Amino acid sequence: MKITFLGTGTSQGIPVIGSNHPVCLSKNIKDKRLRVSVLIEWDNYSYVIDCGPDFRQQMLRANVSKIDGILFTHEHADHTAGLDDIRPFFFRQGDIPVFAHQRVMRSLERRFDYIFETENKYPGAPSVKKIVVENKPFQVGNLEIIPINGFHNKLQVFGFRFKDFAYLTDMKTVEEHEIEKLKGVEVLVVNALREEKHESHFNLKEALNFIKKVNPNKAYLTHISSLLGFHDDVEKSLPKNVFLAYDNLVVTV
Ligand SMILES: [Zn+2]
Ligand SMILES: [Zn+2]
Repeated sequence: MKITFLGTGTSQGIPVIGSNHPVCLSKNIKDKRLRVSVLIEWDNYSYVIDCGPDFRQQMLRANVSKIDGILFTHEHADHTAGLDDIRPFFFRQGDIPVFAHQRVMRSLERRFDYIFETENKYPGAPSVKKIVVENKPFQVGNLEIIPINGFHNKLQVFGFRFKDFAYLTDMKTVEEHEIEKLKGVEVLVVNALREEKHESHFNLKEALNFIKKVNPNKAYLTHISSLLGFHDDVEKSLPKNVFLAYDNLVVTV
């Protein structure tokens, strides 16, 4: 299984528009972060988790010509705003499968009504195939995916386990019985916003505690704010099995 980090930045991305923060001015390519998403490829399958406002650029950058579906973690714009740009995939492949919690699906239906329209649809609009995800295993390609339920402040969010790989973002609390579902993962991705506490995201310390509980071989941090610091400095401070993800990083599991 090949994992490509398409984006690793928090909701505004790095650099933040108009910001003079030193990390936003950094020349290091690892300090440039699009909005969070990953591409997961195995056998002949390719799926993305989330479809934020940088989706088009991410598909071009990673040279993706086919996607078999999109799994949504939650409805926030930094994870969903790029849905219109599935058009080239739709034109070639037909309806694109989207996997989401019922609440997230309703939000997408409201905000992208023309995509979900079934009567008098505008001919240039893309279409999707809706697959509602509940908190129980579901089939994606030839794999059984295990959803991990967590909370982003009070908002329910899904993480996803693909065999020995798990991806969690925008988490602030995860209940013990959900953490149990992550036991035995080789590679864990989890959000770490910054050092300071935040009401709806793990800060660095909380992410590291979470990683310790799950105890994967390797862990990568994502959904990173410029306030966390320069990539190379933060990376040096991490335990030896924990890394900062960066855009275009490829990991095989
Ligand atoms: Zn987010
Ligand atoms: Zn969010």
